[in-house]
Order: sequence, then C-alpha cells, then structure tokens
Amino acid sequence: MLGLIQDQPLLISSMIEFAERHHGDTEIVSRRVEGDIHRYNYRELGLRARRLANALDKLGLLFSDRVATLAWNGYRHMEMYFGVSGSGRVLHTINPRLHPEQIAWIMNHAEDQLLCFDLSFLPLVQAVHAKCPGVKHWVALCNADRLPADSGIPGLLSYEDWIGAQSPDYAWPRFDENSASSMCYTSGTTGNPKAALYSHRSTTLHAYAAALPDVMCLSARDSVLPVVPMFHVNAWGIPYSAALMGCKLVFPGPAMDGKSIYELIEAEQVNYAAGVPTVWQMMLGHMKPAGLRFSTLRRTVIGGSACPPAMIHTFKEDYGVEVLHAWGMTEMSPLGTLCTLKSKHLAYPKDEQMKLLQKQGRAIYGVDLKIVDGDGKELPWDGKTYGDLLVRGPWIVNGYFKGEGGDPLIEDEQGRRWFPTGDVATIDADGFMQITDRSKDVIKSGGEWISSIAIENLAMAHPAVAMAACVGMPHPKWDERPIVAVVKRPGAQLTREEMLAFYEGKVAKWQIPDDVVFVEAIPLGATGKMLKTKLREQLKGYQLP
Ligand code: ADP
Repeated sequence: MLGLIQDQPLLISSMIEFAERHHGDTEIVSRRVEGDIHRYNYRELGLRARRLANALDKLGLLFSDRVATLAWNGYRHMEMYFGVSGSGRVLHTINPRLHPEQIAWIMNHAEDQLLCFDLSFLPLVQAVHAKCPGVKHWVALCNADRLPADSGIPGLLSYEDWIGAQSPDYAWPRFDENSASSMCYTSGTTGNPKAALYSHRSTTLHAYAAALPDVMCLSARDSVLPVVPMFHVNAWGIPYSAALMGCKLVFPGPAMDGKSIYELIEAEQVNYAAGVPTVWQMMLGHMKPAGLRFSTLRRTVIGGSACPPAMIHTFKEDYGVEVLHAWGMTEMSPLGTLCTLKSKHLAYPKDEQMKLLQKQGRAIYGVDLKIVDGDGKELPWDGKTYGDLLVRGPWIVNGYFKGEGGDPLIEDEQGRRWFPTGDVATIDADGFMQITDRSKDVIKSGGEWISSIAIENLAMAHPAVAMAACVGMPHPKWDERPIVAVVKRPGAQLTREEMLAFYEGKVAKWQIPDDVVFVEAIPLGATGKMLKTKLREQLKGYQLP
C-alpha cells in the first residue's frame, strides 16, 4: 500500500521559487570582476534565472545538455545554478585553477554545449577555445560594453544582452527528480579527472541536511559568506541551502586575499563564513599584525582538508568565532560529517571538548559510515582502531559520468554497496570520526602507521610556522620515515632543532619526523589543498640525514 501523499518531485527550481516567494527582499551581495559591489535580492535572482531559462530554450539546448561555467562566486553564477538546472540542463562548474589542457579535456569529456565565463578568465577561454569544437556558444558574464572587440572568440555573447532580451515569464518544467542537475570533476591528482553527476533529488536532500542545526545550522537570520568556490562541489551546497533557508548571501568574487575577505565580512555584517583552511590562514595572517577584530562573525565552517587545531583555537580564543570542522568529498555532494558536541560533552573540561572539536565529526543523517580492514571486515568504533573509511547514502555517487573508472562501489555481506573514500579514519563510541590520513599519504614506518595530518597539525601549533606538510621518505630499515616541510611566518626565526624539539612529549618518539626542510611555499592544488605529490617531486634527490 502506498502512502496518500502528493507526488511532488524534489526539483532545484522549487528552491528558487520558494526563496523568491518567502525571502524575496533578502539581499544577495557580490563583489564583481568589474571591481564594484553589486546588490540585489532573491526576487531579482528568480526573475533573472527565468530569463536565463528562456535564453537556453531559445538556443535550442535540450534536456540534460551540459552548460559549463568558469566563474567566481557571484550573483550571475548563482543565476546559472538555478536557471540551468531548473530548466532541466546540467550545470558543469569548471575549476579555473586547473591547467588549460585539463580544462579542455574536461569540457570535451562533458560534451559541454555552452560556456559562460567571467571576463577575468578570457585568456584561459582563448587557450581552450580551439580545442573545444563541440562548444557551440560562448557567453561572457558581463554587459555588452565590456566585451573586448578582439576577444578571439567568434560570436561571443554578453550575458546581460543575452538574458536581457528574454521574458521573465517562464514555467519551471516538472520532471523526474532523479534527473541529472549538475556535475563536478574531481581534481584528478592521479589519472584523468572523473565527474560526479548530481541529481535534483540528491541536491535537494543535501540542501535540507546541510542546513540542520547540528550540520551547518543556517537560518534566515544569517549573513553568509561562502569563500569556498562555486566551482568546487557547488560551494559545499551553500547556494541551495541559503535559498531554502533565506540567508543573506555575500559573494567574494575574484578577491580571495585576506584583506578583501576581512573587509567584506565587516562591510556586510557577515556572521557566517565557509572555506578551506588555507583561506583562513591568509585572513588571520592579515588580521593579526594589524590588530583587527571581527564585529559580526560568529561561526565558520572549515573543511576540504584537516583544519589545524591551532586554527580552531585561535578563532575561538582570540576572536570568539566558533569553528565547525567539516569533512566530505566531491563524490559526496560533498558533506559527510560535521563536528558539533552532544549534550553530555558540555560538562567536559574545555581541553576535552577541544579534542573532540578537532575531529571531523559526526555523520549527518543520510550518510552511513564504517571503517574496515584490508579484508573488508568492519572495525570497532573505539576511537583508536583505524581503517579504510566507507560511506553510503542518497547524495553519494554510485559511479562516475560515462562509467569512467569502472564501478567504484564495494558490496558487503548484506549486499549493501559502499563508496570507498580513500581516507583512513577512526570512529569513537559516540560516532565522532577522525581522519588519520589520505590512504596514499599515510607514512608506513617499521610496520606502524604515522598520520601525516597529526605531524602537520603539531607543527602548525608552533608560533613561527605559517604552513607545514609532512611526507614519508624511503628508508632502508623502516620503509619510510616522516619529514616535515615548513614555511616560516614572515620575519620569524626557527631552526631545525627547535622544530624537532617542539615534538618531544607531544607524540611517541618514533613518530617525530627525522628532518625539517624549510621551504618558501608548500605547493597547493586547484582547490587550495596541499599537493603532496608535487612536494615529493620538489624534494626529489633529498636524502634523509
Ligand atoms: P579531491 O579528492 O579531488 O581532492 P575533494 O574536495 O573531493 O577533492 O577531496 C576530498 C578529500 O579531502 C577527502 O577524501 C579527504 O581526504 C580530504 N578532506 C576533506 N575534508 C577534510 C577534513 N576536514 N579533514 C581532513 N581531510 C579532509
């Protein structure tokens, strides 16, 4: 017997319809590539998303056709989130920090029909244009008067002219909620990139879940700054959750430096921000020497790579900002866990609470987690035993676009299919998960494992250290031994011996790195994460002492 409930598909268009109707005058503020600050609201966003949907219809784009973006966080990009997916096409957000060759490969693989780009990416677009003959339409996200006469892109359209010529009257189509809505390629640190293909249903469920109090805790009273890019896993789903909750949105555009981010937070009374640790490192680096304070910021979600405990501490103790440590991945839409305390933990001493808050956190309803050994046997939740982390749930991929990479899922004895995250983790009795490492970054020393993240986190707690990366080096007796590459803070003094002495008493003796290498910078990948493969290349020829 079926329930007697209306059969209404979960579609992305319903989020913008809702935001328009219930939060029409709530502001969306964007720093633009043009250099100025643009302001409008959800009502105008909805109206322009419908113009865009009409414009896509006029071009003859079909259901499920891919529409690509090369764009910063901003209102026009947000219009594409709703206009493209809402009208039944698939939004393909491209990471502009990838190499042009890789971008061209991705665009051809996705079979993009149309590309919309911020003008600051024109050189990149010129570099890929000839390599992507399948792309039929090229649109610059600007007014017509800003289009360069000699763009080198025949038929280049101005977004404002293109959608401006369309009617705002448009009835969002109704279709199967399992239809594809957007896609995102993984960074492809090994082999060609593979695309996660999200659906309307998965995106809507993820948007609901992300907004919950013990997840991102978003509300109509928040002014939210997603620093995490809209070209990386849909800015962790914030554009959708914000529309669903009616949050004010503040978009940083191309100005991602510490000073610009800080000034935007203050100017727009942002109380909530989200980004990867390296972004906050830059902002704190700007604020500290100048003695700056936050007047409104209260919470920040930090994830994408391990948030150093020292950063959680600084935000909380020096600035009164609560850090929500989050973990996820492209294949998970991306949220998997978020760290908030349970009621019983409120009675714990502060340092015990802090230890918990450093973990990646508890699973969100909708995400099932387990850790397994090399034979696939489930391991205990004791907070000590570590194993390969597997996940399953309604916003986790069951394969990649066009079947690339084969079937990634692992079936257990009960026939349940799990996605292997490639992370190694512990889970404690309360369900708090802690990432020990990426499985490829774990250091195997004399049959024991050393967590590179733990070694980095300790180095980052030293006042003279700006950034640290720990990698394993081949060793004749122990297989591998850890060394730590350190970037000093500007003007700070630190010797190899001082750094090594700092580890004493904090980790077991055999886990202390064998050496410290001072470097100018740690190579970062396209999403702001440390690129250990590149660091290892840079350290080629290095000999352990
Ligand atoms: P890619 O795998 O292509 O770099 P993702 O953004 O999907 O792109 O990366 C997901 C991975 O990032 C996770 O599997 C995990 O290794 C790492 N990660 C994400 N958040 C955290 C976190 N809070 N702590 C530690 N590692 C994290």
